[in-house]
Amino acid sequence: MPETKFRSFRVDAVVLRHSDYGEADRLLTLYTRQLGKARAIAKGARKIASRKAGHIEPFTHVRLQLAKGRDTLIVTQADTVDAYLPLRDDLILTSQASYVLELLDRFTYEDETENSAIFRLLTDTLSRLASQLDPWLVIRYYEIRLLDHLGFRPQLFECANCGREVKPEDQFFSFSAGGVICPRCGQGLRHLHNVSVETLKYLRHFQRSSYAEASRARPSPEVQKEAESLMQGYFTYLLERELNTPGFLKKIRE
Ligand SMILES: [Zn+2]
Repeated sequence: MPETKFRSFRVDAVVLRHSDYGEADRLLTLYTRQLGKARAIAKGARKIASRKAGHIEPFTHVRLQLAKGRDTLIVTQADTVDAYLPLRDDLILTSQASYVLELLDRFTYEDETENSAIFRLLTDTLSRLASQLDPWLVIRYYEIRLLDHLGFRPQLFECANCGREVKPEDQFFSFSAGGVICPRCGQGLRHLHNVSVETLKYLRHFQRSSYAEASRARPSPEVQKEAESLMQGYFTYLLERELNTPGFLKKIRE
């Protein structure tokens, strides 16, 4: 823990998921501003009268007081900052918010490292979904920015094979190379995906712009579909590769 000196400390957190623990307790998986991903036990949270229970549902942005137990963190106080209530009332929004949390959960491990940029991206994204902003845009923007923060920023401006600047024409995309492959290089390479010049334009725009600027984009349904399937393919590829990396498995087990 970074704050090893203190037995008790405060964190800002989003509850990613929870599971039953013992007779009456809950084990929370959190993404915190101060510690990155962390787990903590909420004692008695399953008792109906528990004052803490309402604060620690998934999707909730909470401020927690944590104490160090022998080998786990224990929640001693919980206050809700934002419950993002609309995300609970609408099944489609619930599934979109779940995707946002799950992506982060799968790509992070408990490394006890402060990451306020990811935390802010997470809470901003949940707020945008709860405010009924265009979910396609909210989620694509989140994906592109998350890739940046995780160290997987896709190369969208130069060919990932020859390094030449990408021209305004349809291109390929390589998951293993982590970026665009120009039509010339693409002829000799396998396992490539098509990316139209229009889709590429939006992905580049999101990579370089604030959300306010990105939100002016009006992509066609074809572009929306292509960008979504490209990003999902890339995340799936990265996840499988990471899961097969000995270092990553070691970090997860620790
Ligand atoms: Zn090339």
